[in-house]
Amino acid sequence: MIHAKTILIATQNEKKRKEIQDILKDVHGILLKGVEDFPFLPLMEEDGSTFRENAIKKATILAKACNTWAMADDSGLEINALNGRPGVYSSRYAGLDATDERNIEKVLFELKGVPKEKRTAMFACTIALASPHRLFFVVEGYCNGIITEEPKGTGGFGYDPVFYVPDYKQTFAELNPSIKNKISHRAIALEQFKKHIIPLIHSK
Ligand code: IMP
Repeated sequence: MIHAKTILIATQNEKKRKEIQDILKDVHGILLKGVEDFPFLPLMEEDGSTFRENAIKKATILAKACNTWAMADDSGLEINALNGRPGVYSSRYAGLDATDERNIEKVLFELKGVPKEKRTAMFACTIALASPHRLFFVVEGYCNGIITEEPKGTGGFGYDPVFYVPDYKQTFAELNPSIKNKISHRAIALEQFKKHIIPLIHSK
């Protein structure tokens, strides 16, 4: 019999956290906690130039500060016609106080006149797991899609209403969450996460 290992999910984004909890719900031996369970969190700037740098920074700093294992997801949208933007700036593309709606407006404005075949994009997600003493592992996931000309659907968060998945003929915001949680960049990264964490829990 193993004791459940507490893991802090290092994100202020509740919808992202819920996706992570849903996808990991069948993993035994871990107890997932949110930032609200840890009252003294250090302020942190996401100033890395890659998702990987940001995920490692968030996981290692928070694991040390909270004296627990911490997992951090850094993710974003890379649009080919915009040379990979918004990328690591996805959450603040329209400014530091940007909302999802303003970010979407900015992307659609920049893509005005770009034909469908050139509106290809990719969501990327990097997840790092750290203890107060070391970084355990980093995993990645990707999902390809096409940026629509207008938002469609009400589910999800961020750029979901403009991210169209050809295989399902729907945007992420129109898809049933159980499907998004199987095919998304986060779902793919979390499949890898599961493979790495199971032996780690059993070895502790
Ligand atoms: P982070 O919290 O710095 O990793 O910000 C990630 C940002 O990328 C979010 O605020 C969203 O704008 C975007 N993003 C990441 N994953 C998703 C997703 O699954 N759907 C829609 N937008 C996403």
